[in-house]
Amino acid sequence: MQNTLKASVTFEGVGLHSGKSARLVLNPAAAGHGIQFKRTDIALGNTIVPARWDHVERTALCTRLINAAGVTVSTVEHVMAALAGCGIHNALIEIDGPEVPILDGSSAPFVRGIMARGIHRLGVPARAIEVLKPVTVTKDGASATLLPCDRLMIEFHIDFEEQAIGRQSRVLDLRNGAFVRELCDSRTFCRRSDVETMQANGLALGGVPGENAIVFDGSTIESGEGLRHADEPVRHKMLDALGDLALAGGPLLGRYVGERAGHALTNTLLRELFATPGASRVVDCDLAMTARLPGQGLVWSEVPATRRVA
Ligand SMILES: [Zn+2]
Repeated sequence: MQNTLKASVTFEGVGLHSGKSARLVLNPAAAGHGIQFKRTDIALGNTIVPARWDHVERTALCTRLINAAGVTVSTVEHVMAALAGCGIHNALIEIDGPEVPILDGSSAPFVRGIMARGIHRLGVPARAIEVLKPVTVTKDGASATLLPCDRLMIEFHIDFEEQAIGRQSRVLDLRNGAFVRELCDSRTFCRRSDVETMQANGLALGGVPGENAIVFDGSTIESGEGLRHADEPVRHKMLDALGDLALAGGPLLGRYVGERAGHALTNTLLRELFATPGASRVVDCDLAMTARLPGQGLVWSEVPATRRVA
């Protein structure tokens, strides 16, 4: 079934890249509405920005959406991952600034907010996107692939020179609340060497190491409370992939494989999927398919409180 929230929930905080504060409200919406942003700080013109792959503008370090009037919303991936992971298919997201608040750098605060309000079932079948043929895109030694699979699976591999990151791999079946249990609290990370470059380019202005991002410097880790998982970086990349795949326009049934992939490559992958004849189809989910979607089997007691392992 298609789902929305039982009631609105509000989040406030700075954007990771712009450093600008914003208030974001997740509102319930009707079946068939999909996920849309609305810029409430802009008075005139078309302020609705659909959360869809064909509205992605620039995706170097975050995912930014843009509408035909040039209105943008940046860094949508963590709230999109929270909605997808909780099985929310319809929501109107009001925001009074250009960038989604980074909060603690993960999706956990959004998940806690959504779960606290509750999930409302709309009595209309969910429309899933089934991957029917393998599709792969590559760039600069990175790759992203979608393969046919009867549920959503995410596989990711990263390889960093920083000793504290190194090579990390993980595969996850997103059924039965796995996102909430395994991925949602993993935080944004970067390398110390990237911070100055980003800030010189007007990015990461709202970043506070240990508070809303983990910063790796050789074997040193600035993470505030300590890592939440020993392989928190690869888990965060999987979280990002879920958020970027949520821009497909509905829950995806397929296996995603990312090898050092980023936001731009995952968006290119969706464009390739929809440009390839016969590679996908939209299906109304029957009960068996619905049971395999992320968001089924969520348990409040499994929503992570902040915890450390290292
Ligand atoms: Zn991220």
